Amino acid sequence: MATHLVWLRNDLRINDNSALWAACRQRDANVVALFIATPQQWRQHDMSPRQADYIWHSLQLLQQALAAKGIVLHYYQCADFSASVDYLAAFCREQQVDALFYNYQYEFNERERDAATERRLTQQGVTVQGFDDSVLLPPGSVRTGSQKMYKVFTPFSKAYLQRLRISLPECLPAPEPRSQTLPQTLPALAPFDYPRQAFDHQLFPPGEAAALQRLRAFCRQPVMSYPEQRDLPALDGTSRLSVCLATGTLSPRQCLHRLLHEQPQTLEQGRARVWLNELIWRDFYRHLLVAFPALCKNQPFMTWTKQVAWQDNPHHFTAWQQGKTGYPIVDAAMRQMNRTGWMHNRLRMITASFLVKDLQINWQLGERYFMSMLIDGDLAANNGGWQWAASTGTDAAPYFRIFNPTTQGERFDKQGEFIRRWLPELAKVPDSAIHDPHGWAKKNHQRLDYPSPIVEHKAAREKTLAIFAAARKAS
Ligand code: FAD
Repeated sequence: MATHLVWLRNDLRINDNSALWAACRQRDANVVALFIATPQQWRQHDMSPRQADYIWHSLQLLQQALAAKGIVLHYYQCADFSASVDYLAAFCREQQVDALFYNYQYEFNERERDAATERRLTQQGVTVQGFDDSVLLPPGSVRTGSQKMYKVFTPFSKAYLQRLRISLPECLPAPEPRSQTLPQTLPALAPFDYPRQAFDHQLFPPGEAAALQRLRAFCRQPVMSYPEQRDLPALDGTSRLSVCLATGTLSPRQCLHRLLHEQPQTLEQGRARVWLNELIWRDFYRHLLVAFPALCKNQPFMTWTKQVAWQDNPHHFTAWQQGKTGYPIVDAAMRQMNRTGWMHNRLRMITASFLVKDLQINWQLGERYFMSMLIDGDLAANNGGWQWAASTGTDAAPYFRIFNPTTQGERFDKQGEFIRRWLPELAKVPDSAIHDPHGWAKKNHQRLDYPSPIVEHKAAREKTLAIFAAARKAS
């Protein structure tokens, strides 16, 4: 009897899992699954402890779900990618594995590891099959007329939609239960050798079933209000599925199919297209990683921006990290992320812009800090978002377009409802003054236990324009 091994990584689900599905296709094969934790590697990637904890809880649920299908999930913990290749080779020898199935990851180090694994196992006589699974369409499959990767999102998304209209990617069911005998006790999932930080299970319930439930509920109704609500951080107007997509408790194809089930006209028109567009942004950044691997190595897309003379003031950086800049919308956003591991998209744009364009701090420091805090940390989306905000990326905000943190707050959190949730020290400030609390305090002879703005926006803006212009001239 053939033995098939499914190597699970960021695809922690049994539904619509290409590798698992393929491994189970041969009815009489013995199928086993394996997850290898690599904490040392995670540290290098700044994976947040909350994301590690979400993965650990989701793994427990995945082990049960696989067992219900007659499949054992094995588990191993080793330092890094190189050790994981050694372990896989030994596991395949011991268990007499004939074929390995896995879903691609697109980051540079992950691809190197997978190439090394494939070489090693092929030498051992194991057949290795990889699958495009964490994207709607495979990287490299949507190209310009001259067969290049799109560098601008709008034409990319038009071509993407066109491809989806012609042929929808299939959404696979969970495999049928197998008649394999399970051991009396399933392999123990020892806690990761990684810093622990609990996350809010109400906000981010782990596992595939909870992800599917949230997806269903979101596509039924809230997705129709998404165009108006998605920019208002005080509302629960977005799907909050990012951790599920980043760790693979949910697939983008499941999102697309559920969306079309509830809103069948979406590929042609309609309000739900706005949400679909965000899923296409997600794929855009993944396709870019594969086309331009230097993005994984902390390189700006626009090389002239390497000349920008960043200020990197450590006091300013700490104030930004702690949510003590004196700009209420920035501080409330940073505290939301520090406390929950998630930040609203509009606020990610505002806080990233503030770090780069008001404090002139290198975007790469912000990118790393976000990764270390976000439960949904995802290299492609995070790098894409930071390079967009820093004006260093492809199709990024032009460097002279600089958010004003006060007017952004006024526009997207008019009454300060969101700000009040995270800055209790502004409780006595009236709504009309919530975006300029110190102005109000001065006028009304009040004392506030809240820092004064660490920079003056107008002057900071001028400075940023000057250092970007100088960098451009020097290149
Ligand atoms: P929804 O609005 O419901 O969107 C649905 C899904 O689409 C999201 O779950 C996400 O997978 C994807 N998506 C939405 N917006 C974007 C976008 N702009 N780029 C790429 N994918 C998107 N997203 C991450 O998943 N991980 C990150 O580490 C990350 N870092 C970011 C850093 C910065 C500076 C910026 C500006 C954005 C970043 N984003 C990141 C994108 C976006 O902010 C989050 O995906 C979104 O806020 C997650 O909330 P949601 O699930 O409710 O999203």
